[in-house]
Amino acid sequence: MRVVHKFGGRSIGNGSNFGHVAKIIYSFVKKNDEVIILVSAMAGVTDQLIECAERCQKEIKKDTLREFIQNLLKKHLKAAEESIDDISILKEVEQKLNETLEELERVLVGISLLKELSSQARDKVMSFGERLSTPILWGAVKNLDIPALYLTGYEAGIVTDDRFGNARPIWNISIEKIQQTLSPLLEQGYTLIISGFIAETEDGIITTLGRGGTDYSAVIIAAAIEAQEIIFWKTTSGVLTTDPNIEPNAQTIPSLSYAEAMELAYFGAKILHPKCLQPVMERENILVRVKNTFKPDAEGSIIVPVTEQVENVAKAVSVLFNAGIIEVGGAEMIGTPGIAARIFGAFEKADANVIMISQSSSEANISVVVNRSDLKKTEKTLKETFAHTNYIKYIRSEDDICVIGVVGEGLKGTPGVAAKVFQSVAQKGVNVRMIAQGSSELNISFVVKEKDGALAVRALHEAFELGEKIN
Ligand code: ASP
Ligand code: MG
Repeated sequence: MRVVHKFGGRSIGNGSNFGHVAKIIYSFVKKNDEVIILVSAMAGVTDQLIECAERCQKEIKKDTLREFIQNLLKKHLKAAEESIDDISILKEVEQKLNETLEELERVLVGISLLKELSSQARDKVMSFGERLSTPILWGAVKNLDIPALYLTGYEAGIVTDDRFGNARPIWNISIEKIQQTLSPLLEQGYTLIISGFIAETEDGIITTLGRGGTDYSAVIIAAAIEAQEIIFWKTTSGVLTTDPNIEPNAQTIPSLSYAEAMELAYFGAKILHPKCLQPVMERENILVRVKNTFKPDAEGSIIVPVTEQVENVAKAVSVLFNAGIIEVGGAEMIGTPGIAARIFGAFEKADANVIMISQSSSEANISVVVNRSDLKKTEKTLKETFAHTNYIKYIRSEDDICVIGVVGEGLKGTPGVAAKVFQSVAQKGVNVRMIAQGSSELNISFVVKEKDGALAVRALHEAFELGEKIN
């Protein structure tokens, strides 16, 4: 079997974790699987890199920069020492870490001299997290006597456009390159350790696939080499019915359909990168598993094309915090074609991702949910767009809201679900600000004040009996 495994940053939070992950990999290699690993940066490192790059752009002391590099070096050297005991492998990894950090220092010095941080430079800086973690995992795997090689995403064949920070793969080129590069190596019996998240343009400039993009890298590679299975190793036991920090009684969902998983990913359940299921859906023959790195024997969740009929109508309740609403309204919007197009044109211009839309049937108001960080700039762009027209009477925003989604294939054609959703929320005295249901009927989403989010989630989790069954 060809199996792609993805390990996120929290699965390799420290040195002993690398050793633990290497043992998981070992168990699959011993089963005679062809094993391809995609690995993220160690937890927190990508954020630290961004923060340091931003400081360099403003003002940074030489010593502070030095210290940053030294701390990163220390952290990664320590992880290598804790997970690799073969001296010659350790030496090789240490040398790679040193070289990589020297390069990072040069890049950061460049940014601080120019006081300029383009999106291209930012991607370059962000790429170092994965470029540091990958050789360590390689060393830990080699240390168990497994023939292994490590490659960056680009070396593995992932080629993207130049939308820095959120690059998209150029599929036909990538698929061919990945096949040509990886297939012979797999046939020679190598286990491959590949940096997630990063790729390059056709001209060889480093790009990143968006935050959390290692999931996406795993899917691109799996699709290209026609893997039978992808296992996403997380720090929760599979996909849960809701966020366990909000509802401690959250349970593992044993089986979900691709469509359900995709809805959940969109709605803030940090299970998988939202873009990463589409390619899997198109192929329909890749089994996706989500398992817990720290409980590798637990089944976790499987994600399959369609699941058998479920007893519960809803499978999960998700919540997306840090959102905001923009409302655009005015009686003269009624019956004037083209206004919606201009409104959404403004969102595009502001580069704001639209999360949820609703238009009242009186047509006098369109409400749109976006990430809170996009709220102000979008409001500004909208005001500019409609400055010299009189159809729009007001453009206003609200920044303390969250979006709650109830997800499940079983919602389809089941009467009374909406009533149950809103009754259970109303019983807790929570006011609903905005509602949307896609015509797929897989998801009912609504907006409440952020302070009411957790209460609403718990009420729904209970109403749909998603917690532990006591009988
Ligand atoms: N290291 C990157 C991030 O933190 C990519 C990933 O974790 O998948 O966003
Ligand atoms: Mg990460």
